[in-house]
Amino acid sequence: MEGHSKLSINQYTTKMKWALREAVEGYARHGIRGISVTRDTLVEIGLKRASQLLNDNGMHVSGYCIGGLLTTPNELAFRARIEENLKIIDEAAQIDAECIVFVAGGLPEGSKDIGAARQRCLAGLRELLPHARSAGVTIALEPLHPMMCSLRSCLTTLAQANDWCEELGGGDEVGVVVDVYHLWWDPNLEREIERASGRIAAFHVSDWLTDTSDLRVDRGMMGDGVIDIPRIRRLVEAAGYDGYNEVEIFSENNWWRRDPDEVVRIVKDRYTQFV
Ligand code: ZN
Repeated sequence: MEGHSKLSINQYTTKMKWALREAVEGYARHGIRGISVTRDTLVEIGLKRASQLLNDNGMHVSGYCIGGLLTTPNELAFRARIEENLKIIDEAAQIDAECIVFVAGGLPEGSKDIGAARQRCLAGLRELLPHARSAGVTIALEPLHPMMCSLRSCLTTLAQANDWCEELGGGDEVGVVVDVYHLWWDPNLEREIERASGRIAAFHVSDWLTDTSDLRVDRGMMGDGVIDIPRIRRLVEAAGYDGYNEVEIFSENNWWRRDPDEVVRIVKDRYTQFV
């Protein structure tokens, strides 16, 4: 029995009520040893104290959220984003994160040139990879659902993420995130997960509610929606992934409002049934 040894919880899942300290201690109290850390909560208490807190509670960091947002054509703003991402790499190294979750960025304001946005992001990645390599950090490209393309991510399919990895030609410093919420609909998913073999750096789970009211902040708890999560888990494991299964639920009007201890209990229960 695997139990909950591979379960990680993304801090966003309980973020409205728990800051980093409460999340780390809360997850540990429920016997969970994996956490995905959001950057603002780490900055809040400082890198050193955060690192100590994680160590004291025997927590492993399955991901550090988020890096990227590199599509701006404005040179000054782009340089500032690169600097920020270099800091994020150092922080991820310090807390021993399995990866940085990299979100590409959407269309810059006023722009209709999606090709330019993608090229800009790739250029940014090329600048970051040498630093990631020397820091021993993996930048994991997370394709987001295409409905988020204009606002959040011009990287929308696993095929495209695989293409980018090949184009960048990196080693362990670049990988991909397979998030069932963003990718479950893709008719080429099986083929692309197989193609991502050796570079899957994280696996994120939640569920797609058929009557979803918001594409970003109305995700379902595993079992409440239409995604065959065990099937996708089998595919990533067949592709060699043996890391954490990270529960990541953005849910402004439901899960974020509940008592986090109750949420964690339900996550554990649903994890054994539906992941
Ligand atoms: Zn995700």
